[in-house]
Amino acid sequence: MIDRFRSLEGAIGAELQQSLSPQDAVGLLKDGVRRSTTGAQMTRNRPALLADAAGGQYPYAAVLSCIDSRAPVEQIFDAASGDLFVARVAGNVASPDLIASLEYATKYAGSKAILVLGHTRCGAVKGAWAGLEDGHLTGLLGRIQPAVAATKAAMGAEDSAENLDRCSLVNVQETVAALRRDSAILSGLEAEGKIAIIGGVYDVATGDVAWVD
Ligand SMILES: [Zn+2]
Repeated sequence: MIDRFRSLEGAIGAELQQSLSPQDAVGLLKDGVRRSTTGAQMTRNRPALLADAAGGQYPYAAVLSCIDSRAPVEQIFDAASGDLFVARVAGNVASPDLIASLEYATKYAGSKAILVLGHTRCGAVKGAWAGLEDGHLTGLLGRIQPAVAATKAAMGAEDSAENLDRCSLVNVQETVAALRRDSAILSGLEAEGKIAIIGGVYDVATGDVAWVD
């Protein structure tokens, strides 16, 4: 299955997408990180990708990630046009429009896995940790407060890099839990074994992903 994906020059098609199990899709995400971190990126043919794009999209997974400029999702997973849905919002939080996007990606467009991807050195997490309130940021950062409270209770309130990165990890776990709690569609698909919902923390310094249970 990974070999079939690796042999693609153009876009992933309906038949390959539908043949994937949720575990296969997670395996493709992990293989993408492996390719990116070892310099073994796939060679995709842009005219073929564009020609395939006209026929539809069959992404194998959807990623909910932060907007951070140092966490370019397609590069992290060695992804090309048609491989991934990517929903980005500061702090990778599960607000209603983001949840809707993931519901579409899985229930209606056939993606087999959802990855909530946080990252180290996250500015949104740092802002939430400091209690920043300003404009629309107040509401968004409020969604990170459960992770801030849990991390401060366990680690103390110092805004060290270690504590903030731990908070990014806890925030990923909180977002995964929120997807299951707040979306009957996503929790239902997961319960039926049709999708996997997983988490990860991207290290902006190494380019690697630590997978979160
Ligand atoms: Zn961030």
